[in-house]
Amino acid sequence: MGQNAIEVRNLAKTFGDIKALDRLSFTVEQGEIYGLIGPNGAGKTTCLRIIATLIKPTSGWVKVFGFNVEEEPSEVRRIISYLPEEAGAYKNLSGQEYLEFMAGFYSVSKETREAAVKEAARISGLGARLKDRVKTYSKGMTRRLLIARALMMKPKLAILDEPTSGLDVVHAFHVRHIIQNYAKEHNVTVLLSSHNMLEVEFLCSRVALINEGKLLGEGTPQELKSRYKASNLEEVFMEATMLD
Ligand code: ATP
Repeated sequence: MGQNAIEVRNLAKTFGDIKALDRLSFTVEQGEIYGLIGPNGAGKTTCLRIIATLIKPTSGWVKVFGFNVEEEPSEVRRIISYLPEEAGAYKNLSGQEYLEFMAGFYSVSKETREAAVKEAARISGLGARLKDRVKTYSKGMTRRLLIARALMMKPKLAILDEPTSGLDVVHAFHVRHIIQNYAKEHNVTVLLSSHNMLEVEFLCSRVALINEGKLLGEGTPQELKSRYKASNLEEVFMEATMLD
């Protein structure tokens, strides 16, 4: 058992009359790739944004490597990276310039920054296209650049909202392998949300099923399949959300 990377306890968030999160609790251990799955509007993005210190909970608390996200947000920001679902990169910069620009936000030595950009360039797999402006990139290429950006400083925790949404099979395959290899090589803990059950089963050591802001079930993909007597996670998902 590793150290807890994330502890979410009784987390609630309301937007007016909408209960986006309803006393949600789960724990992610260090080094895990942990997946949040649930139907549209289940509260996945809200949960990820609270953990990433972007919005505050209505009640409950979250700790990231022991730091409370509400009380110590700058400590949390130092050790995480967050990739929003609809993230864009600066379109007039080249891919290479974008990575250099983003690395410039970190107060680390020039050598560390240069090494991070080099590493990001490698894991993006974009090769010579890094010299071209981002506005000439396909959606898949942009996503690869953004994933490389999110991982390049070896955060202790990478929070990835729908990392492969809208990508074709080839780009999605590449992005999943980047996440899997990088997390393992550098002991990066990953929390991701996804609608792709194949992806979740491939990548995640454990999964939380969320519906209407509540946790319906948690476990390894194998455990969930046995619990719901299902042959794949898609069936688990359907069973769990219909029984709720
Ligand atoms: P999806 O799979 O469609 O991305 P999700 O699981 O990420 O959905 P959230 O985006 O967290 O779901 O939304 C949960 C609920 O909270 C939804 O009913 C949504 O409309 C609502 N919600 C989220 N953000 C806001 C906001 N800023 N203002 C009002 N309501 C919001």
